[in-house]
Amino acid sequence: NCILKDTNSLGNNKAPACESRGFVHKKGDVHFDTPPFLLYLCSHKTIGIMFQEAIARYLQSSGYSQIQLKSVLFDMDGVLFNSMPYHADAWHKVMERHDLHLSREEAYLHEGRTGAATINIVYQRQYGKDATPEMIKSIYAEKSAEFNSNPEPERMPGAWEVLQKIKADGLVPMVVTGSGQHSLLDRLSHNFPGMFHRELMVTAFDVKYGKPHPEPYLMALQKGGVKPNEAIVVENAPMGVQAGVAAGIFTIAVNTGPINGQVLLDAGANVLFPSMQAFCDNWEKLHEAFGQINRTL
Ligand code: CA
Repeated sequence: NCILKDTNSLGNNKAPACESRGFVHKKGDVHFDTPPFLLYLCSHKTIGIMFQEAIARYLQSSGYSQIQLKSVLFDMDGVLFNSMPYHADAWHKVMERHDLHLSREEAYLHEGRTGAATINIVYQRQYGKDATPEMIKSIYAEKSAEFNSNPEPERMPGAWEVLQKIKADGLVPMVVTGSGQHSLLDRLSHNFPGMFHRELMVTAFDVKYGKPHPEPYLMALQKGGVKPNEAIVVENAPMGVQAGVAAGIFTIAVNTGPINGQVLLDAGANVLFPSMQAFCDNWEKLHEAFGQINRTL
């Protein structure tokens, strides 16, 4: 019975169509094992059940009686834009230039941290002391220049399509990013015309702490005038997932990079998709599940 529902929806093919932590019990042919388990058996019905389980667990831990979805909060790099390969490459190259070692793969794990924090972690690891503010400023300036020397990042496959579905469903999409790159922020309006309102965006300029602190997502809730159980978060990085979860919001991870999906589940993701395309393909089922599940007290 272990069949993949649709290999086309698997995008980068690094993970099955959906994964979840589960209770130990059986429903039909599906064995929900305890944590975590990979769900290779992805019939349409099964996916719906899995979403319901994930929502039920969220309600149980958050104390809310239901998710009344009004807004979908999107991270930007690695979710809306396929910009992470450029970021990882820029980090790696510039660090090497300064005799600091940060592999492209590790750069993905630091995604969401401020540039200063990333530089300091690597510096501390090698030299056992903090990097100076001057050093941080100059390395970060080089990193930004290196990033901007790349061609413009493409829209993540599936991102525009799922946004259109979300808007058609009467929900409000918002962007919550740690990025302070003006170029990338401006490109949101070009690549996603009419989709996002500037006043409903949270960027590096709005926050003090940044992810994994819940602040960016709490600010998004405030700006959007919604409660934690009236929104969901879409993130690709472990620290972004942590931020969404810490803000008390149902958090969807899309694994668009090279990291192991388990890292995103360990960060607290309620649902994990292997790509934005898979999230898009399963949107209807997920949205339906939000309306179906109430916590019975
Ligand atoms: Ca991201």
